Amino acid sequence: MSEMPSSSDIEQPAFRRELTEALTDKSLHLILLPTEQCNFRCTYCYEDFEIGRMGRETVLGVKHLLSRRLPTLERLNISWFGGEPLLAKGLVEEISTHIVEAAENSDLQYLADMTTNGYLLDIPSAEQLCSLGVRLYQISLDGPSEMHDRTRVRANGKGSFDRIWSNLVALRDSDLPVSVLLRIHLSPENLPSMPDFLARIRDTFLSDSRFTVHLKPVERMGGPNDKNMEILGSDVRTKVLPELRAILQERDGVSKEFPGAEVCYASRPNSLVIRANGSISKCTVGLSDPANLIGRLAADGTLHIDNARLGPWVRGWVNRDWSSVRCPYVGLPRSGQQQLLQIGSGPGVA
Ligand code: SF4
Repeated sequence: MSEMPSSSDIEQPAFRRELTEALTDKSLHLILLPTEQCNFRCTYCYEDFEIGRMGRETVLGVKHLLSRRLPTLERLNISWFGGEPLLAKGLVEEISTHIVEAAENSDLQYLADMTTNGYLLDIPSAEQLCSLGVRLYQISLDGPSEMHDRTRVRANGKGSFDRIWSNLVALRDSDLPVSVLLRIHLSPENLPSMPDFLARIRDTFLSDSRFTVHLKPVERMGGPNDKNMEILGSDVRTKVLPELRAILQERDGVSKEFPGAEVCYASRPNSLVIRANGSISKCTVGLSDPANLIGRLAADGTLHIDNARLGPWVRGWVNRDWSSVRCPYVGLPRSGQQQLLQIGSGPGVA
């Protein structure tokens, strides 16, 4: 009788596959922040809104970088992030148009997604973005309107649920080729309302194959609002999450929950965050953390990356450590990172 393979034997091929994907220069993932301003002031938000709209130098830098890389790329993934990216829709359109025109008549696999609060995602905007390849949306809800409007507050202090919900229903009623991931935040405060709310989500959206759900307990991420936040304890998560998932599946027994990623983009050398001021980072959560500043994009499209700062983010591939590639920010080594970043102090990765 042959021996059962160990879990590490099973994981090796998957690890090698992911490693190849993370290192290949045939693939590029850019997370672009066209503005770091937001029309919301979510009570748990970790962003500090100190940086505004992407300046011309950075826009030119992104376009030059893409022009240089596109001829040798097989896959390009653009993720629009913010702030609220739809506050700078013109920049999203400008850069997306540049990509579509430059990639014309090529075999490039181009995918673009957007993390948006959904408030400005009306049908004309979705149609325009769709025509430029932006077809995957991640939109967060914090429960039914009376819950959502307490935490996902607009900058003017008013609620946001009704407009987001009507935009989602309009997308459902359209025939646009989009995918919408509804990220449902869970907290001790909104938990009692979740069974009814998830049933409403299921009945309104989940028979449409373009919609999926991701249940996400809110976490303390080091932002200024952390001290005011209540989060779900691990015992509650263990008990409640399976019950909530079962509600989403009640209609047809098919899971409509997003399975989640095995590898975080932040651990991949070929994935970079370009902030509105041209700074280069790895992770969209710790944006105000100095250890998350690894370089700068020049207006001519040159990426100046400090490899000493990049190294800790990609350590999981060197150490063959799944937990570090799933989230390199947890346990990020910080020694030797105190000196100020010198632009051009290390060779670029792209
Ligand atoms: S590194 Fe961790 S915290 Fe940052 S985006 Fe990835 S999983 Fe999230």
